[in-house]
Formats: sequence, structure tokens, C-alpha cells
Amino acid sequence: MKTSLAVEFQDTRTGEEAEALIGKCVHCGFCNATCPTYQLLGDEMDGPRGRIYLMKQMFEGERQSLDKIQFHLDRCLTCRNCETTCPSGVQYAKILELGRATLSSKTRRGGFETLFRSMIAAMLRQPRFFKLMSTMAGWVKPLAPKIIRKKIPVARKPALDWPDQKSPRTMIALSGCAQGALAPDTNRAAAQVLSRYGISMIEVPAAGCCGAVDLHTTNEHKGIEVARKLIDVWTPHLDGIEAFVMTASGCGVTIREYPHLFRHDSEYLEKATRIAEKTLDLSEIIEREIDGKPKSPDRGKKVAFHAPCTLQHGQKLPGRIEKILEWSGYDVVPVKDGNLCCGSAGTYSLLQPAISSRLRQNKLNALYESAPDLVCTANIGCQMHLSDPGKPVHHWIELLL
Ligand code: SF4
Ligand code: SF4
Repeated sequence: MKTSLAVEFQDTRTGEEAEALIGKCVHCGFCNATCPTYQLLGDEMDGPRGRIYLMKQMFEGERQSLDKIQFHLDRCLTCRNCETTCPSGVQYAKILELGRATLSSKTRRGGFETLFRSMIAAMLRQPRFFKLMSTMAGWVKPLAPKIIRKKIPVARKPALDWPDQKSPRTMIALSGCAQGALAPDTNRAAAQVLSRYGISMIEVPAAGCCGAVDLHTTNEHKGIEVARKLIDVWTPHLDGIEAFVMTASGCGVTIREYPHLFRHDSEYLEKATRIAEKTLDLSEIIEREIDGKPKSPDRGKKVAFHAPCTLQHGQKLPGRIEKILEWSGYDVVPVKDGNLCCGSAGTYSLLQPAISSRLRQNKLNALYESAPDLVCTANIGCQMHLSDPGKPVHHWIELLL
């Protein structure tokens, strides 16, 4: 599609990038078939083709209500299923990023919404603060109304130990903003499994959030600032380690896309690129280590795996974890519509609770259809979103212990 840029976007970086990205879309609509919000809401403007068209109109300066555009862009999960489907290689998420940034410079959200978004981001981006809040949440949870009790995340105490063994092969993991408090055993389990292959996995205590939370709440400036801090903490370790290992696919996709995030930042681009190049999802490392090794005996357990969008669509790493689980002796059952988002989508479940809860229910129905013994996933957001009292969703690495 040709975009005739409005005067205000001509000869600007944003305008040039938007024109090039939108130009690849041929408006065929194949992507609508796999878009969760289009499937659920049935509105062309709640599908990728319609959203791209709305953003094109905005960059062309057409008289279109900005509130209407924002309404439909806010309902997008950024799941990137449309990118996987698109035969023309349209980078939808990059168009959306430009569209959202442009909109936020042109519109003002209501006071309550602005405050709510800022509070979510402020709480999540500080791992220590988040841990404190989620510990306190555990005290007040029994007093909360039943309807919201289930949704209050509570900090957990770790049950596993870090392995003692030190190895010349070292990898750095991110403790993450929410994962360190809500699922502290995930990185411990990863460290134990990696130690079997002679790899020491460590965390750098000063490393905080990757920036994803602010990027999710359309605060690009803050997201970049937070990402810079992580780059500053990790850069001195670059030469001494084999990889940065990601145990949450949401953080993984964000860090792998640092070169794009810092594309206009000459001071940080090189460091960001080096970090991104050394970043691997945990499944890529385990897959490499088990290659050629004999399969484990049958464990007699059925497992349903929920593939996070940030893993299968964002990082384009589908199918690996299912293979690792099968190699580890599990019977991995097929999950209907496994390409669809569960509705967690970063902060989406808090900002769009109605759509999110419908997607969650659909996902739970699909995951439990084959009566699995265990359900697991690869991202803390999905894990918490899909867990229910008495029906926990595990991180897949815990199943390899
Ligand atoms: S994004 Fe891709 S699949 Fe969707 S309308 Fe454009 S070209 Fe077609
Ligand atoms: S990112 Fe997901 S929700 Fe958004 S348009 Fe693409 S498929 Fe639909």
C-alpha cells in the first residue's frame, strides 16, 4: 500500500519508516484469519489489516478520529500472530510501535487511565519493589473480595537451591521483574538443569527489568531508559560469558530486539547489538545440549504445553520445547489453536480485562481438553495468567528436574 505522507510526517524518520513498513502490506487480509481479536470481535478494525489501514490514514493526515484509532490499537495484543501468517513479510509490530508512539504524542488519555498505566509500569519495573508489593499482597489477599482474590499475584519462597558447581562455561540469566518474585524456582531449576551439561548459570544482582513493561504501556522513552540500565550492567560481562539465557520469552524477545530499539542511538547501538546477539532462549541451549544424546525413559505423564506468542511469533522459535519435553520422556498432547494468544500479553490482561478473560478461557479449554497431567509454558506472564488455585501452570524447565 502506498502511503501519501501528510506534511507533518514528510522528511521525518517516523514518516519514512512508516511509509516503508506499510508499503509492504498488500491488504490481502490473510492475517485476519489468525488474529485473536478479529476472531473474537469480528470487526475489521480489530484485525491487523484494519489496524494497518487506520495507521496509514493517520500518517496521511486523513480526518479520522484519533480516539477511534487508539481504541482499536489498544485492543491489539501485540501477539504477532499476524506476522507469522503474513505472506508478504509485513513487520506489523514495528508499524504498531510507530503508530502507538505517534498517537501518544497526539492524544491524551484520561487521568485515571494514565495513572493506572504508570502505576503498573512503576510496580513491575522495580523487581525489589514488586517483590515487596507481592509479599504484602499475600497478607491482604484473604481479605480481598472473592472476585479479585484470584487475580492478586503473591510472592513465593523458593523451594529449590542454586547448584554449587562452578564451570568454565558461564551463562547469565535475567531474574526478571515479576518472575523473581512470583516464580523464584524457575531460574533455580534452569541453573540445576544447565549444571548437568557443565554450564554455570548466574544472575547479576544489579540487573533489573529489560524494559518490556514500559514498552507495553506505550512509554517508549522510559522503556529505553530501563533497557539502557540493563545494558550498562551486562556489558562488562559480555566477554566472559557464553550467552545471556532467557527463561521468560517475553524478556527474550525484548532483548533480542534491542538493535531495533536503539537503532537511532549511536552510543548504545553497538552494545545493544552485542547483547542481543548473545541472547538465547533456554530452549535453544537445552536443544543444543541434548542433541544426539539418548532419549529419557517414558515418565508416563501427559503434558500440554502453551507456546507463548513471544516465543513462537516474536522470536520465531516454535516446536522446540515440545520436542525437548518428548525427549525427556513426556507424552506431549496436541493443543487446539496453539498459535493463539492466551490473553496475558504483557500488561494486556490488566488493561483489557474483558477480551483477555475470554481468550484465557478459550486457552484453558484447549489446554485441558486432553486431560493432561501437567500444563506448562515458557513465560511468566502466561504462567500466572493461566494458573488457577489447585491447577498450577508450570515453567517447562521444572519438568526436566
Ligand atoms: S499484513 Fe500481510 S497478510 Fe495482512 S493484509 Fe497486509 S500483506 Fe496481507
Ligand atoms: S498482533 Fe495479534 S492481536 Fe494484534 S493485529 Fe496482529 S494478530 Fe491481531
